[in-house]
Formats: sequence, structure tokens, C-alpha cells
Amino acid sequence: MSDTIFGKIARGELPARKVHEDDLCVAFHDVAPQAPTHLLVIPRQPIPRLSQAQDGDEPLLGHLLRVAARVAKQAGLADYRLVVNDGAGAGQTVFHLHVHVLGGRPMGWPPG
Ligand code: AMP
Repeated sequence: MSDTIFGKIARGELPARKVHEDDLCVAFHDVAPQAPTHLLVIPRQPIPRLSQAQDGDEPLLGHLLRVAARVAKQAGLADYRLVVNDGAGAGQTVFHLHVHVLGGRPMGWPPG
């Protein structure tokens, strides 16, 4: 499996503005924020994309959502949007699963 920037951040080999860290995941600020608050939650385990997660990853996936909600609350967000881009056609550019946490401005629908 090829390594990614997020793999390096998860291992502490690249710097990131971290807001949360535990045994299973890391959350940090996106370098190119698309909203006043834009955080990313990544598993330490290098799952390339959501569709490659396995049945056994379900507790981990649930944990990522719980941490996303926790860091959103810590950032003062009452309303926010979670995004998981699954594949290049959906906008995924880093092939290490991540949950975007976006907030601090009104969110339009449908998304672009
Ligand atoms: P996606 O397009 O869903 O794969 O999202 C990748 C996100 O990672 C983009 O929003 C980028 O701005 C962000 N990103 C890329 N490199 C870094 C980095 N070194 N630290 C934080 N965020 C990054």
C-alpha cells in the first residue's frame, strides 16, 4: 500500500495543527480551509478510501464520526457538515481515508 501525506501526519513524521489524538485517530486543521473551520479526522490505520474499509473496520468508522462530532463541538460549531470524498471522481486527492469537518458559514445544498 502506498504511503500518503496523512500517513506521515498520523505517524508524527509531518507537522499538522492537531486538535485531537488518540490510539485510533488524529484530527487536525486542513491546510487549505474551505470554511472558517475546516478540520480533518483520519484513522491511524491507512485505509485508502471508504469503499475499501472492511466489516471489521466498523468500530473504527464509528469512532471517526464520534471524534468528528467532538472536535466540531470543541471548535464551537453548533451546526457543521461532514464530508467523505470516496474516489477521485468525488474529489478525493489524498488516498488515506479522512472525514472533513466544515463549519462556521452557511452550507449550501446540493454540494458542488
Ligand atoms: P480530499 O480532497 O477529500 O482528498 O481532501 C484532502 C484534503 O487534505 C484537502 O482539503 C487538502 O487541503 C488537505 N491537505 C492536503 N495536505 C495537507 C496537509 N499537509 N495538512 C493538512 N491538510 C492537508
